[in-house]
Amino acid sequence: MVKVECPSCFYEFELGGGTIVGELVPCPDCGVDLEITKIEVDKAIVEIAEMTEEDWGE
Ligand SMILES: [Zn+2]
Repeated sequence: MVKVECPSCFYEFELGGGTIVGELVPCPDCGVDLEITKIEVDKAIVEIAEMTEEDWGE
């Protein structure tokens, strides 16, 4: 199993098998969409997926 820690609420949960980089996974605790950016042996690195197209401010 691959573990993920939500960057928003720090809830830790496990991904199901077959999850791939780039996939969006909702946090079971706070519900934010998380994008898988990297998968390591037993944990995955995620970022909060911005729902507002590609508008990063500025
Ligand atoms: Zn969360």
